[in-house]
Amino acid sequence: MSAIDTLPPLRDVIATHQLSARKSLGQNFLLDLNLTAKIARLAGDLTGCDVLEIGPGPGGLTRGLLAEGARHVLSLEKDPRCLPALSEIAEAYPGRLTVLEGDALEVDPRAHLTPPIRVAANLPYNVGTELLVRWLTPPTWPPFWQSLTLMFQREVAERIVAKPGSKTYGRLALLSQWRADAEIVMHLPPGAFTPPPKVSSAVVHLTALPEPRFPADAATLNRIVAAGFNQRRKMLRAALKGVAPGIEDHLNAAGIPPTERAEQVSLEAFCALARSVKTI
Ligand code: SAM
Repeated sequence: MSAIDTLPPLRDVIATHQLSARKSLGQNFLLDLNLTAKIARLAGDLTGCDVLEIGPGPGGLTRGLLAEGARHVLSLEKDPRCLPALSEIAEAYPGRLTVLEGDALEVDPRAHLTPPIRVAANLPYNVGTELLVRWLTPPTWPPFWQSLTLMFQREVAERIVAKPGSKTYGRLALLSQWRADAEIVMHLPPGAFTPPPKVSSAVVHLTALPEPRFPADAATLNRIVAAGFNQRRKMLRAALKGVAPGIEDHLNAAGIPPTERAEQVSLEAFCALARSVKTI
């Protein structure tokens, strides 16, 4: 029996189902159920929520989410080898776990979910960043999710929460902080995973704001931020030349010195610039 439920320890689950970790699927498993339960608690109060979990693997975080009282967990896993192990968890928690086999970049799981919805995942880092960007840029706001609790490579986690003036400040920070509160809530050393990855990891918790922090048209803001950080060493009057005619006037109208570089400009100022550009 394990620390949090009546199911076998994850090492036994992995041995029974021969789930040797595959590098191609970014499989670095969390085997400490006290740790996965702690990550589940960092996702917030799960009792009245459906939880979308991407990449359950042998089910460490899945079990944490269920033990912490999630109303229902929908787990989407690409590796079919994991499904028998996940079925055993579904049997131990009748009616509370649904497992879908598929690629999270291709499957839209929303039809299987009832609000309020929280998302939790320990994913390969490239997939995690791609999904984060998609979750942050839906056609309408608020999004389908209330919060995202995601494991990232530490360097990516730092880019998400970065503030102006720091080396890691860029598109990911602005995208994340425009419509969500973003916070690093846990650091994990490589040794927390089996097999250990080369780098440290961190869990980021994002809570969707009911409305964007500052008004701006999403497409205009995105265009400005992309151009500004594409040439981050350049002054904005040069980097944003192609974005709109008379960009210096718009920069002045937004209170941004045209000689400033993108990494010094706050989210609020970028939004003011997007509003000025949009009105032409
Ligand atoms: N959640 C488990 C844990 O914490 O131990 C497994 C984490 S492991 C880092 C990533 C998991 O995501 C693996 O089970 C892998 O098979 C799965 N995965 C990788 N790419 C995926 C994708 N595109 N869609 C869904 N699952 C994916």
